Amino acid sequence: MNAVVEIKIDQPKTSGAQAFLRGRDKKMLIGGEWRDAVSGQRIDSRDPATGKVIGTVPRGAKADVDLAVKAAREAFDKGVWRDKTPDERGRILWKIAELIEANIEELSELETLDQGKPLFVGRWAEIPGAIGQFRYFAGQASKIHGETIPTSINYQPPGKKIFAYTVKEPIGVVGAITPWNSPLVLEAMKIAPCLAAGCSMILKPAEDTSLTAIRLGELIMEAGVPPGVFNVVTGLGPEAGQALSEHHDVDKIAFTGSTATGRKILQAAGGNLKKVALELGGKSPSIILADAEMDIAIPGAANAVFFNTGQVCVAGTRLYVEKKVFDKVVAGVADIAKGMKLGHGLDPATQIGPIVNKMQADKIKGYIDGGRAAGAEIVCGGAQGGPAGTFITPTVVAKTDHKMKIVQEEIFGPVVVAMPIDSLDDVPRLANDTHYGLAASVWTQDLSKATRYASAIKAGTVWVNCHLMFDASLPIGGYKESGWSRDSGTQAVDNYLETKTVCMVV
Ligand code: ADP
Repeated sequence: MNAVVEIKIDQPKTSGAQAFLRGRDKKMLIGGEWRDAVSGQRIDSRDPATGKVIGTVPRGAKADVDLAVKAAREAFDKGVWRDKTPDERGRILWKIAELIEANIEELSELETLDQGKPLFVGRWAEIPGAIGQFRYFAGQASKIHGETIPTSINYQPPGKKIFAYTVKEPIGVVGAITPWNSPLVLEAMKIAPCLAAGCSMILKPAEDTSLTAIRLGELIMEAGVPPGVFNVVTGLGPEAGQALSEHHDVDKIAFTGSTATGRKILQAAGGNLKKVALELGGKSPSIILADAEMDIAIPGAANAVFFNTGQVCVAGTRLYVEKKVFDKVVAGVADIAKGMKLGHGLDPATQIGPIVNKMQADKIKGYIDGGRAAGAEIVCGGAQGGPAGTFITPTVVAKTDHKMKIVQEEIFGPVVVAMPIDSLDDVPRLANDTHYGLAASVWTQDLSKATRYASAIKAGTVWVNCHLMFDASLPIGGYKESGWSRDSGTQAVDNYLETKTVCMVV
């Protein structure tokens, strides 16, 4: 059984993180200046493992959003960023990557303290992922171009010709609203292509995890992004987030978060019909066939759901296993779950950190208890504890019915439901039987089965013999209620561009 949570370490080691936490007031970045909220109000930032307040950030709201949008608009209209050569924009994006890399130990500790995640998750996966985004889109800045297009127009004046071409132009002022599970990398997935395209941005980070967004703002200014081009407004979703989504001078909202909040943003964006990109929830299947290499598939399936304490939109939360190996796989995943070390994310031994806040932990526990009450078997885990009630032991659930909430809804915690596959013909139907369509993994050595399922599963990403493989070059996003559009990959810059057609008679 997982040991009772004991907090042995809760202080950062790096002087950078210590200085950031103790040394200066956390302010919002608006028009290149660091400002308090117009209201003067602040929000507590808490260490989710202990519940202790580790700092405060401004509670930005409509008045602050108005100031930030004005600054972003002015910067855009003056052309201080979009009129730089693509090479210059690329160099500055590359510089941001270098500055993040130079401060990676500090940023990892701050991210862990604010979010709760085990240190290795930030230090070795997510922050390198953020760096990768800035490097990749540094290169993309100089690869944005339109096309010359031959037309079939035949009514030009005699002796004249048609010359038509398209130009890609930055969309304008973008609001990015980001979640608390993987703050820096998900912010970078919006900021890097947006700046590569030449837009201005207002970032509204999640209220639970705003500290690293402020630190990132410092680094972005240090790299040489002109004032007003990149702004950070901290605050609550229904206040600052809502004001940004409604704002008539914002051209686009790029959102990552829950499907429920995505719907609200879509409604708020309707006023000026601003464009909206949505990266939403998931309930992704991991599908293990009998011929899979079990020494890879079993730890892979466990990692797919327990990485970052299960707070991952593409987590493999529905585990389908071919019947003849079902008991072996479930026992294997449960053994890994039972052996995982719970603790403060700053403790290097920790594999499972706290959930971001008590409310989310209670919600997860509610799903587990609801599943148990509906007749599911809790194979392991299912407990809530720790000094702030934010720890959930890694949980494996079996004997479920496909209609149960625990099978259908996104839990966003370390909880996996395991179900046997009676016939391989059922795999696409089972995999597709939720409102979501974000990701899936198939574990098999049979290439033809892998290819068939990769085609039949309605999801934005299908991994084969792996899960959670990310790269700035690989598009990520959802089918169905998992969202619209894709982050990462070459086409992500298009999210921040308009196409203008120029048609000439010459
Ligand atoms: P969760 O519900 O899991 O806490 P959300 O999807 O609500 O996550 O949060 C993602 C981001 O959306 C956060 O930055 C949050 O502040 C923001 N947000 C929440 N509610 C709204 C809203 N009504 N309008 C705009 N943004 C919001």
